[in-house]
Amino acid sequence: MKPAPFKYVAATSLEQALALKAQHGDEAKFLAGGQSLIPAMNFRLARPAILIDINGIESLCGVRTFEATTRIGPLTRYAALQRDAAFARLFPLIGEALPHIAHPQIRNRGTIGGNLSHADPASELPAIAVALRARVHIQSAKRARSVAAADFFVSALTTDLKADEMLTEIALPLQSARTGNCFMEVARRRGDFAIVGVAAQVTLDDHNACSDIRLAFCGIGETPVDAGPAAGLLIGHSPTETAFREVAASVRTMIEPAGSVHATADYQRHLAGVLTERALRTAHQRAHHGR
Ligand SMILES: Cc1cc2nc3c(=O)[nH]c(=O)nc-3n(C[C@H](O)[C@H](O)[C@H](O)COP(=O)(O)OP(=O)(O)OC[C@H]3O[C@@H](n4cnc5c(N)ncnc54)[C@H](O)[C@@H]3O)c2cc1C
Repeated sequence: MKPAPFKYVAATSLEQALALKAQHGDEAKFLAGGQSLIPAMNFRLARPAILIDINGIESLCGVRTFEATTRIGPLTRYAALQRDAAFARLFPLIGEALPHIAHPQIRNRGTIGGNLSHADPASELPAIAVALRARVHIQSAKRARSVAAADFFVSALTTDLKADEMLTEIALPLQSARTGNCFMEVARRRGDFAIVGVAAQVTLDDHNACSDIRLAFCGIGETPVDAGPAAGLLIGHSPTETAFREVAASVRTMIEPAGSVHATADYQRHLAGVLTERALRTAHQRAHHGR
């Protein structure tokens, strides 16, 4: 299939891109890596009248860490993050998840901003953004605002972005010492979207008790599923195998997977429990070494 006819503008500045979006609203789409948008246009699932190519706006690229926050430009490509060893040390959850996202060719072009804006419920990074308590910065020609990742994802393929807005930055708080991370997923083949994926983070205090815990899933809801409350029973305790099993049982009860052609809802529920136990166990072991 070929896309429906469209106009193309290569924006040279953020101001120009935002002015065009203000003028054309929902009729216009930003073009980042094109790895979701172009296939959707070729299938005619998306028919934007105008494409605003943001690839020439250098200020939207790159990673900067200042004080307790790392800021990622939306045009930063998966491959750039994968090559950045310092970034992987700061955010091991993202480092561990990146090889699961699609294939090298797609990671060479795909961007973190395009990924979050596309809001595929099976996608890894939205769940990780929720687990890491990221904030998403949003700008239009008239205003700027910031939203917690947990509030940014509204439903499948739908975010809080308004017709005139662009995602302009992802802000990640640095993690405390004695924090362990683990990302795991089950997919039919390497590079496929996850049937279920889990991001777990465990922080220990000086007495080896859990002082903070994060648990978020992809693939089992319309948006990333924050299962932090199910893991809350670990807080204040030194986690045991029994406690991990209790959290897994609680996760199985709280989630409502829809199932798909690749997995029934019951199978997804089962997998979510198994992955919960494994990911929490691994994150807990890693917390002793702070990674
Ligand atoms: C074969 C294949 C396998 C894949 N497997 C996976 C996978 O396993 N996991 C996974 O997570 N993804 C997967 N993807 C999707 C891939 O990760 C996409 O690259 C990503 O979802 C979109 O990023 P992009 O930069 O290509 O965005 P684009 O395709 O350019 O844009 C996507 C959407 O976001 C909008 N947009 C882009 N940037 C912004 C911005 N800054 N502000 C506001 N709106 C914006 C666009 O207008 C468009 O609506 C796969 C894709 C393919 C083709």
